[in-house]
Amino acid sequence: MVGQRVRTRFAPSPTGYLHVGGLRTALYNYLFAKKLNGDFILRIEDTDRTRMVEGAQQNLIKALEWAGIVPDEGPGLGGDYGPYVQSERLAIYSKYCQQLLDDQHAYYCFATSEELEENRQLQLKQGLQPKYNRKWLPAEMGGSMPASEIQKKLDEGAPYVIRMKVPDYVSVWFEDMIRGPIEFDSATIDDQVLMKSDGFPTYHFASVIDDHLMECTHVIRGEEWLPSMPKHFLLYEFFGWEPPKVAHLPLLLNPDRSKLSKRQGDVAVEDYIRKGYSSDAIVNFVALLGWNEGDGSEQEVYSMEELINKFSLERVGKAGAVFNIDKLNWLEKQYIKNRPAEKLVEVVRPLLLAELAKRESLMPKELITSEEYLEKVVELMRERVGFEHEFVTFSPYFFFEPESYDEESVKKRWVAQTNDLLQEFSVELELIEEFSADTIEVKLKEFVAPKGLKPAVLIHPLRILASGVSFGPSLYHMLEVLGKETVLRRIRKGIEVITFPVS
Ligand code: GLU
Repeated sequence: MVGQRVRTRFAPSPTGYLHVGGLRTALYNYLFAKKLNGDFILRIEDTDRTRMVEGAQQNLIKALEWAGIVPDEGPGLGGDYGPYVQSERLAIYSKYCQQLLDDQHAYYCFATSEELEENRQLQLKQGLQPKYNRKWLPAEMGGSMPASEIQKKLDEGAPYVIRMKVPDYVSVWFEDMIRGPIEFDSATIDDQVLMKSDGFPTYHFASVIDDHLMECTHVIRGEEWLPSMPKHFLLYEFFGWEPPKVAHLPLLLNPDRSKLSKRQGDVAVEDYIRKGYSSDAIVNFVALLGWNEGDGSEQEVYSMEELINKFSLERVGKAGAVFNIDKLNWLEKQYIKNRPAEKLVEVVRPLLLAELAKRESLMPKELITSEEYLEKVVELMRERVGFEHEFVTFSPYFFFEPESYDEESVKKRWVAQTNDLLQEFSVELELIEEFSADTIEVKLKEFVAPKGLKPAVLIHPLRILASGVSFGPSLYHMLEVLGKETVLRRIRKGIEVITFPVS
């Protein structure tokens, strides 16, 4: 493997959605390969036909693309190796399985599921760890089944599986890049099924064959696969292949340290996409689930490029990583705060256009969808929103007339003279030539001072009429962005609708 180009793979089974844990596995494999100028490939492991879900493969690919984790080869991408879909490679697995049969590392097993279950129960009763009882292990391989019996069954066309024969009394030792040296005693390893009765290989067999043929140098995957390692290593040994280096990532935990589960929140990447999280924040968040830069670094916001530069498996911990949604929300806010306005506008504009297709706006469409207008909105609101879509949903008043006025605030802020003051002030506003936050502020102060009033008598009602609500960005800046025409229209409409005393 010395001097070999690094190749990692993400090998999901298309059984539904992309789990955040799966995204982390994909990301770490991607970062590891990219940092070392290697290749990252995607392999669809669809050999368990009972767990297949329609459309899952496309969803996986879409979610990875959304996250910016683009394979160098793989389904749909062509290349010398792709597409990698295991169900299209059955002849390859059969060929290698035949080799193991010929070399007496594998054997046919005709046990029925009832027999297997009976055997399992018996072993459990005896306090043993359930394992196949080797009834069909051929006599010439150290078992008791005569070759003639096996041939008879094959001739009859009886259904069978093919099992690997785990050697007796060997210990399997390997080095995990995260966990260090690990040793297993072969006595604890079952004669794993390699080929199922439907002619499909099992995950264990297909993944070993493929990791070898696809020249994967490193296998980085979830901790749950650690117990499978000895079987895989034995297979490498049977074939005389050099195994890849392996790294098993820590579990993802709920805040109460139980295993991350659907019951305590969303686990599908698609759910987070739907809720409006950006891929930058999700990737950043997922990267920190188990990895940290160390060396006293306090950095928490990382771009994909920085992650590629800084990632290393040495800095991935063994202990479970807690999935803290507050941290994700915080990261999302950081991204919105710091992303260039034009980038935010790219996301906001289509959302606004979709909204405009459903609702009427009294503001000119060319104006409110313009780069200049949207950038102003984004700059004014970026500290206040938690998601990009909130630029439209949290402050719709930048695009649509308020549909109502917050009742409590109106009750609190309206006094007998409010409407008259608003009416009088609107005349003053109309006279402003350059309708800016500064000129509006000066005008307002000049207007209230001679009357012996405080600016607040107008500030609050103006905000309510302009936006419908009592909170938001600086009033003067908000009015500037809305523009004179809109502000005057909303004041006139408001004083028509709100009558004093407010009921
Ligand atoms: N197909 C397995 C899964 O769905 C892949 C495990 C591995 O990376 O070897 O997780």
